[in-house]
Amino acid sequence: MPKFIDLVGKKYNKLTVIERAENASSGAVRWKCLCECGNYTIVRAANLKNGAVKSCGCLLHETENKKTHGMSKTRIYQEWNSIKNRCTNPSNKRYEDYGGRGINVCSEWRNDFLSFYNWAVTNGYNDRLTIERKDVDGDYCPENCCWIPLGEQANNRRMNLSIEYNGKTKNLKEWCEELNLNYKRVHNRMFKLGYSFEEAITKPVMTQKRNKEAKNKYG
Ligand SMILES: [Zn+2]
Repeated sequence: MPKFIDLVGKKYNKLTVIERAENASSGAVRWKCLCECGNYTIVRAANLKNGAVKSCGCLLHETENKKTHGMSKTRIYQEWNSIKNRCTNPSNKRYEDYGGRGINVCSEWRNDFLSFYNWAVTNGYNDRLTIERKDVDGDYCPENCCWIPLGEQANNRRMNLSIEYNGKTKNLKEWCEELNLNYKRVHNRMFKLGYSFEEAITKPVMTQKRNKEAKNKYG
């Protein structure tokens, strides 16, 4: 009987081991794994360790897609990749604002670049546009997405979220005007540094003279 080694939490290429799965009929140890693309798959321990299996199968699919569409270097492919990444890869810098908030990519797009590509071109894609979700809390899927000029995307719209404070509701810009605060600084504190609204408007501003490092820290 093969020696049992706990692989939970270990990562092999695109696969992270989640839990033990039922043994193969041969008795070989198998593990349930989460693929970077968001799919689960069951893999034999040996195949994980020797690298024979690197993904849920999406890697093969991607490679095939790359071969046939020859578009892996194009901007639209990068856009597709980065959407998937920020929604499914917890080590992505922007994951917190996407996957971490429950935002997903529909399976049709997630598993098939060409499906995304076909939607994009029939909906007016060009290289000066970026993808936008109509509902900023909704998923990346055909019903919720459109193409808009770069620089006008959701992050900007998120600033327009209503903020309730002291019994009044205003958007961020209005609050800053009313409280006579530097909008850029408050925005930066909330969306780059992760402050709550209250922290962002109440934490004292460090002056450059006092401490340069602190200024960087507090924006
Ligand atoms: Zn996968």
